[in-house]
Amino acid sequence: MKIKAEYIWIDGQKPTAKLRSKTKIIDGQVKKVEDIPEWGYDGSSTSQATGHFSDLLLRPVKIVRDPLHDEHDLLVLCEVLNPDGSVHWSNTRAHLREVAEKHEAEEAWFGIEQEYTLFEGNKPLGWPDKGFPAPQGGYYCGVGNDEVFGREVVEAHAQACIDAGISIVGTNAEVMPAQWEFQIGALGPLDVADELWLARWLLYRIGEEFGVSATLYPKPVKGDWNGAGAHTNFSTKTMRAPGGMKVIEEAMKKLEKRHDDHIKVYGAHNEERLTGQHETAPISSFRYGVSDRGASVRIPMATSNLGYGYFEDRRPAANMDPYQVCAALIETVCGE
Ligand code: ADP
Ligand code: MN
Ligand code: MN
Ligand code: MN
Repeated sequence: MKIKAEYIWIDGQKPTAKLRSKTKIIDGQVKKVEDIPEWGYDGSSTSQATGHFSDLLLRPVKIVRDPLHDEHDLLVLCEVLNPDGSVHWSNTRAHLREVAEKHEAEEAWFGIEQEYTLFEGNKPLGWPDKGFPAPQGGYYCGVGNDEVFGREVVEAHAQACIDAGISIVGTNAEVMPAQWEFQIGALGPLDVADELWLARWLLYRIGEEFGVSATLYPKPVKGDWNGAGAHTNFSTKTMRAPGGMKVIEEAMKKLEKRHDDHIKVYGAHNEERLTGQHETAPISSFRYGVSDRGASVRIPMATSNLGYGYFEDRRPAANMDPYQVCAALIETVCGE
């Protein structure tokens, strides 16, 4: 039997890496990721190599059903390796692999809220050719043809994620019209990051069908319009058990100390978004608070009331690399 396997990987573009993919026709039965052959590509066309020595290796690390094609077709997420099998500099998953293994006992869980903005040509979907839509206020979780733009894309994307077996747990229209969100998890670090990258790929791919493009740029429209983030909800085993609030407070102290290191991997152009307005805290300082959507980190009301649970890091931008964000959170919170 011939199946189509879409090999998906992350390129070396700076300051924000992009997804790439190509299709391999595989003849035979595929039951697990080890049944999928390694493959190669031209790294000089993806900002990952120079022209003279440009072959790079794709190592399949996760397979899911391709929800847009035949029953046996697959999406194949890959790590990028050098020709000798060593980790390529652009491969941020390899580091998360090590960090996740080292701190396996802490049982870190992540739930990531991915915000994004749909564009048609050079303007947000549904926006007027000249001028702006009515100011923000009625769009968040709105309904109606004058309030939300692109719901058919959002619904097709959610269904595709479900069909692929990705742990999508919700979607909502955001504060800025044409801006949306979906959430992945809670899952362990590698799973949440792999599934977020696959869900992003599906979002772009489904946009092709509808003639719209999704952008993860953190501040797609300047001025009095909300930016796009990737709130990262985090907990460890001890945070989720009675007495966990003390562990969360310890984590806040550690996060405060390493604020700048975190901001470095929380997405490019995030300074345009983290202004202290539009439900953000300023990029220059760290602050946490219960139920506070103007803080760097929010402790949900339910967690505070129960005395255990999780916290929400609101700093990551929509365009962040979840491999780097998850690694930074585990290293800071679970480290010394
Ligand atoms: P918000 O109120 O900030 O919009 P959402 O409902 O959009 O929150 O997203 C919350 C995310 O947090 C979900 O992905 C959810 O699965 C995740 N989450 C819930 N409990 C935990 C936990 N204990 N650890 C980590 N993530 C969690
Ligand atoms: Mn949310
Ligand atoms: Mn949101
Ligand atoms: Mn949130």
